[in-house]
Amino acid sequence: MDGFEKYYRKNWEQRLEVLIKQAKLNKQQVELLKINAQDPNLGETMIENFITQYSLPEGLALNLVVNDKEYLVPMVTEEPSVIAAASHGAGIVKRVGGFRAKIHERLMLGQVVCENVSDAVALQTYFKENESSLLDCANQAHPSIVKRGGGARWLRSRVLAADLVSLDLAVDVQEAMGANMLNTMLEAVAQKIISECNQDILMSILSNYATECLVSATCQIPVNALAKNGISGEKIAAKLAQASRLAQLDPYRAATHNKGIMNGIDAAVLASGNDWRAIEAGAHAYAAKDGQYRGLSQWYVEGEVLKGELTLPLPLGSVGGSISIVPLVKVNHDLLNFKGAKELETVIVSLGLAQNLAALYALVTEGIQKGHMSLQLKSLAVSVGAKDTEIAQVVQLLKQQGLRDSKSAKEILKQLRKE
Ligand code: NDP
Repeated sequence: MDGFEKYYRKNWEQRLEVLIKQAKLNKQQVELLKINAQDPNLGETMIENFITQYSLPEGLALNLVVNDKEYLVPMVTEEPSVIAAASHGAGIVKRVGGFRAKIHERLMLGQVVCENVSDAVALQTYFKENESSLLDCANQAHPSIVKRGGGARWLRSRVLAADLVSLDLAVDVQEAMGANMLNTMLEAVAQKIISECNQDILMSILSNYATECLVSATCQIPVNALAKNGISGEKIAAKLAQASRLAQLDPYRAATHNKGIMNGIDAAVLASGNDWRAIEAGAHAYAAKDGQYRGLSQWYVEGEVLKGELTLPLPLGSVGGSISIVPLVKVNHDLLNFKGAKELETVIVSLGLAQNLAALYALVTEGIQKGHMSLQLKSLAVSVGAKDTEIAQVVQLLKQQGLRDSKSAKEILKQLRKE
């Protein structure tokens, strides 16, 4: 596009100038970009072609008790009701003792994918016979992680097709999420394979299907704690278990079930400075681990108790990436008050289960819209131009008339202004 040649070489102010000349933004629009930029130097160190800072609301989920400790969980989200639902689900579980959560293992996996393989068996034999020198090679590529007590742990190889073999490397990345350090190690291992086997390599990259970094949360709720509006706790528990079964059977429902879980997990992952796309990718791959996409959580009734369980790959860092660069992330870590990556993972998996409980509870009782309504009507009122002094009235009239569309909201606002 004209005017955008070598855009990345321009400084921040020059980039904004181009937007006036070439993208036809007016002065007020550019002013908005400037005001929101907050700290252009920070932005420029984080991403390319930086123009502004796009902010999302941050709120706190309350009531989350995990392994007998209560947490404040900062969540960054644009979606109304997510934080209220997380706090509600966490509150139900807090009253009956809180969540238990555990880490199964914490290793990151990466792949060196060999292509044009002429003899897969011979290549696999080479990997087996040279396991310790391949692990040494990985460790020498990032010695500081070995000093910290981590490093490459094991190798395995998988034949994906007659000509494609993946060498998988498992690394203890300590407090980091580990993508960059793992990628460095994988590229070193790839070079060794090229030089020792004259083998073509297609790519070397970590896998976000982090099956060696699983985390689980569980909870147990006496069914009588679930009673609401004259509906017995027993009936609600049975419906929750049925909703869980539905998400195991039907991918159409499973996707929405898991989206509800990720509403909480993504928001907390983002606030913690971690890479939420990596977590999303891993979670959905894990949901399809047996060949069919299923709900990540399960709820079932045993005797008088509703039991819930959520397991997913959750490779979160307490250091690395943007974590030490973004000042707000430090504040969020202090609010969370956790001691290391493993504890952070137990908190966030539990938040996902709390979020799931609240969503299913609403769905099988009063429906999802009731709880969603007030904030959504507020957003609707703002979107049709209601000013601060008009929002409450527009929301009230929409509620009274059972309306929730923009045409009605506009008419109500017009009517209000006439009066
Ligand atoms: P970094 O590249 O920032 O590496 C971690 C850093 O933390 C290192 O500098 C390390 O120091 C330092 N560190 C300090 N204390 C510790 C400790 N106790 N344990 C471990 N490290 C420590 O981040 P990651 O390697 O974690 O990679 C995460 C980033 O990679 C994210 O930004 C992610 O978005 C991105 N990414 C993700 C990909 C994916 O998911 N597919 C692909 C590529 C990148 P030292 O150098 O001394 O070891």
